[in-house]
Amino acid sequence: DSSPLPAASAAARTTAPPPPPPPRLTVEHLARIFDGRRVVDDVSFDVPAGEVACLLGPSGCGKSTTLRIIAGVEMQDEGRILVDGALVCDTVFRIPPERRRIGLMFQDFALFPHLSVVQNVAFGLTGPAAARRRRAAELLERVHLAHHIDSYPHALSGGEQQRVALARALAPRPRILLMDEPFSGLDERLRDDIRDETLSLLKDEGTAVLLVTHEPGEAMRMADQILLMRGGRIVQRGAPYNIYNAPVDRAAAAFFSDVN
Ligand code: ADP
Ligand code: MG
Repeated sequence: DSSPLPAASAAARTTAPPPPPPPRLTVEHLARIFDGRRVVDDVSFDVPAGEVACLLGPSGCGKSTTLRIIAGVEMQDEGRILVDGALVCDTVFRIPPERRRIGLMFQDFALFPHLSVVQNVAFGLTGPAAARRRRAAELLERVHLAHHIDSYPHALSGGEQQRVALARALAPRPRILLMDEPFSGLDERLRDDIRDETLSLLKDEGTAVLLVTHEPGEAMRMADQILLMRGGRIVQRGAPYNIYNAPVDRAAAAFFSDVN
């Protein structure tokens, strides 16, 4: 028959495309005051899914405090945090840390010495034992430690332990992974390999990452966006080479001058 065009195609011409998803992590106007000093001062940024944002700056500039507020183990005095567009905390409302689906990895985030490697990685998982072990084993394979699955932490090198810690942090499929100077305890020769391996696993998992470091070289190597911090404030932000090539001021230029 000769029916007119279906209504759907007319609608398709006039309907706007679906809005993009909200950023995985949104930080808005965060501030923290210690002894009258704003150690975190009006910090705002977004991290989309699958991206690594790097909070970069000298010691004492407020990086770890920012990370701890996002993790929920420290409270802010101003500002709010959203995950996938949903409020996680502001100055009156607060979802507890264990319900934020945020993974943590710190330099001295020790493994449990009395648990095997696979038990360490499966520790935070729920569900049937076989499924937990399967997920843990899959991640251990991804960090090239399948042969150490039933070893105990003391039998592993520092770099291997760090890879177990990464697998453990990613096992519960966190929406966001927070990493505070995760590689600084490692031998210089190991770091490049572990950074590359970490990056490739993070990209495969699609996790949004906030990495804290005081090393510009690490930020250059790992970040999609760098948030350059000084005295509690973000003084410059952008893609690594944009910041490297056009530092905002002399101090930023000097800070980047030892990148090799
Ligand atoms: P970063 O991680 O960049 O080295 P921090 O966030 O750890 O910096 O610290 C920022 C500033 O806040 C530092 O001057 C530090 O001494 C201070 N600070 C951090 N935690 C506390 C606290 N609980 N009480 C008082 N001052 C603190
Ligand atoms: Mg710190």
